[in-house]
Amino acid sequence: MIHNRYTGEEVCFSCEVFPPKRDDDIYEIFQTLDAIEDLKPDYISVTYGAGGSNSKKTAKISSYIQNVCDVEALAHMTAVGMTKDTLKERLEELQKKAVRRILALRGDRPRTMTEEEFEQREFRYASDLIRGIKDFGDFRIAAACYPEKHPESPDLEADLKYLKEKCDLGVEELITQMFFDNEKFYRFRERIDEMGIKAELHAGIMPITKVNQLGTSVSLSGSSVPTELSNLIAKYSEDPAGMRQAGIEYAIRQVDDLLRHGITGIHIYTMNKADVTREIYNAVAH
Ligand code: FAD
Repeated sequence: MIHNRYTGEEVCFSCEVFPPKRDDDIYEIFQTLDAIEDLKPDYISVTYGAGGSNSKKTAKISSYIQNVCDVEALAHMTAVGMTKDTLKERLEELQKKAVRRILALRGDRPRTMTEEEFEQREFRYASDLIRGIKDFGDFRIAAACYPEKHPESPDLEADLKYLKEKCDLGVEELITQMFFDNEKFYRFRERIDEMGIKAELHAGIMPITKVNQLGTSVSLSGSSVPTELSNLIAKYSEDPAGMRQAGIEYAIRQVDDLLRHGITGIHIYTMNKADVTREIYNAVAH
């Protein structure tokens, strides 16, 4: 928890890590976690490869967080590539490792999967996976949400209808897709309040510390990039150290503004960079 200097409230502070591509690099992520651990985040979430490709690594890293770092682990899990049998196996594995929190997602089609295979998936949407986890029991479930709508949704209202469905199934936390324009997030928060969605809302903040970061994950996310941020990227295109600092400062300004607006959940997309997470934490935690 961090203390909000503007409202006096406690704020849930969490972050996300992803499993390394190469098995040999798993110790690097453990080192990253060791370096984050003393910030005492409320939880650390661990991503899951498209189609379940690295589910074992997600479970192993989640277990390290839960049992070695003594921080709550939130294991991501996707419906794509999942069958009833594999879901049972994955849940039993997490249960054995004392990991009790899951971010239930639909996932996207991995490059190795044909359109046809994707269309024939057993669990169609995140809501179907949530039902499956609920039937098994014993897990606290989180879900994803999109302040600027999911890229496949025709509009925000259509997306919100399905978000409500996920929440009505018992989702306790919502983590947003990264956003760079806080105004979009505030409008989204108003809409979900109006709809009576009571799940805790955690604002997803991605520090842009490299010029090429926008080209990959950000463009896929559909998140809009304000002129202030694109100007920074243009300004520091030849200056990696300058970009790193400017990106961290942008993220700090975003978090500070969120705290000023009484937001009670901050989720940092760490990109496995402990130093970046620490700088943001030190600037906002009181
Ligand atoms: P859903 O909630 O199922 O929604 C997907 C789309 O279908 C939306 O457009 C929605 O409006 C629509 N929809 C939902 N229900 C219905 C219905 N019943 N009928 C018709 N339409 C419906 N991906 C990974 O592979 N691994 C990860 O670890 C991962 N972590 C993520 C973490 C966060 C915080 C976020 C925001 C995303 C993450 N993703 C991850 C990406 C995610 O898998 C994709 O964004 C995916 O396209 C949608 O997942 P979802 O759970 O939001 O899907």
